[in-house]
Amino acid sequence: MDFNDSPEDAEYRRNVRAWLDQNVPKKIGSTEHEKLAAAKDWQAKKAAVGYGCITWPKEWGGPGGTAIQNVIFTEEESNYQVPPNPFRIGLGMCLPTVMAVGDEDTKKRFVGPAMRGEEIWCQLFSEPSAGSDLGASRTRAVRADGKSDWIINGQKVWTTLAQYSDYGIVICRTDPNVPKHKGLTMFWVDMKDPGVKVTPIRQMSGGAEFNEVFLADVRVKDSQRLGAVGGGWKVSLITLMTERLAVGKLSGANWAQFLDAARRTPGIGGTPALKDQSLREKLADWYVQDEAIKHTRNRAMTAISKGQIPGPENSISKIIAATKLQELSHAAVEMLDQYGIVSGPYLSESAGQFHATLLTAPGLRIAGGTDEILRNILAERVLGLPGEIRVDKDVAFRDVPTGR
Ligand SMILES: Cc1cc2nc3c(=O)[nH]c(=O)nc-3n(C[C@H](O)[C@H](O)[C@H](O)COP(=O)(O)OP(=O)(O)OC[C@H]3O[C@@H](n4cnc5c(N)ncnc54)[C@H](O)[C@@H]3O)c2cc1C
Repeated sequence: MDFNDSPEDAEYRRNVRAWLDQNVPKKIGSTEHEKLAAAKDWQAKKAAVGYGCITWPKEWGGPGGTAIQNVIFTEEESNYQVPPNPFRIGLGMCLPTVMAVGDEDTKKRFVGPAMRGEEIWCQLFSEPSAGSDLGASRTRAVRADGKSDWIINGQKVWTTLAQYSDYGIVICRTDPNVPKHKGLTMFWVDMKDPGVKVTPIRQMSGGAEFNEVFLADVRVKDSQRLGAVGGGWKVSLITLMTERLAVGKLSGANWAQFLDAARRTPGIGGTPALKDQSLREKLADWYVQDEAIKHTRNRAMTAISKGQIPGPENSISKIIAATKLQELSHAAVEMLDQYGIVSGPYLSESAGQFHATLLTAPGLRIAGGTDEILRNILAERVLGLPGEIRVDKDVAFRDVPTGR
């Protein structure tokens, strides 16, 4: 395992830091509109100097950098207050898929504008009955009468950033007469098509980052197909695989803030909560978990630096990190008493911050693979335990009771 940057990577890191020092925007704005505009400007600025999509090939306007340079930039950028990133799904998952399977015209049309932050993309995969089991997708795409066009009808759900998106990649069932994974096809759709309706889902945190998306008679050209007819499952694996490469710096902010709050908050008998024995036991557990995540991450980065793809063992990090975040914010809310749940302009900066994290942390245990699914992956692919029984694997989708 390599713990330190190579001399070239260390120089790259120095250059990144110097550039960020000079270029991070001074003002992000407070309204949704201002933040979106700041995000677009920031992405354009990064793209202009080769920090927009570091690993993208020169052929498509990227700098052709290494995956490790990408990790370095992400790490360094996370030390600054930068605009929110509405491009993460498009640039992280959708466009890599387009580059892998799209035809030349499609790549020419979409890669550049996405890289420069001019267009936003979303991922239309999950459905009310197809999340963990994406192969059970029921959104239908059928050939328009006598034409090569397709008509899409169905519903997607939990679509992050659909409300800002210009385009989306959508997995559809094109053949219900073959087993579920074989009858799927991927397309790109225009999110501004009159047949696409985006409805926000209000979260318990108060935000509405994701949406239900209804597709009613959305007509797409055959040239909007990504990959072969019936090859959608394979294409979706390309999309999901890119998620595993997103090995950014794990946020340490909440950990530092927790320690700070525990030092300042009186516990039993008026001594700082940090002196409390039961809290110290929790801190020790979280510390050990943090160290394990750090080393797992180092292992993944070593694989990336050698041009390999991190293996399924990388799933450990999300299970542990998301659970820890939830436990830590819960402990903080209890420790801070009323300051744990209220926030406002007259209170200290830390008031309410853990409450917000407590309400968003459960989503992290679901997004990108639930805890249970990741544990299944670890059991089957890392530990070599017997696979789950998959009774519908060889059955035509229309004959699966939930497939009708
Ligand atoms: C913050 C967030 C952002 C998201 N963004 C997007 C997005 O942009 N685009 C998109 O398409 N989707 C998105 N999703 C959806 C996400 O991919 C799904 O929520 C996830 O795959 C789980 O699917 P589900 O919600 O249908 O739950 P289900 O799959 O119905 O699971 C319900 C429960 O059953 C368990 N379970 C299911 N199958 C098994 C099994 N085989 N073994 C053991 N336990 C099992 C699960 O672990 C879970 O506890 C997002 C979700 C979140 C929380």
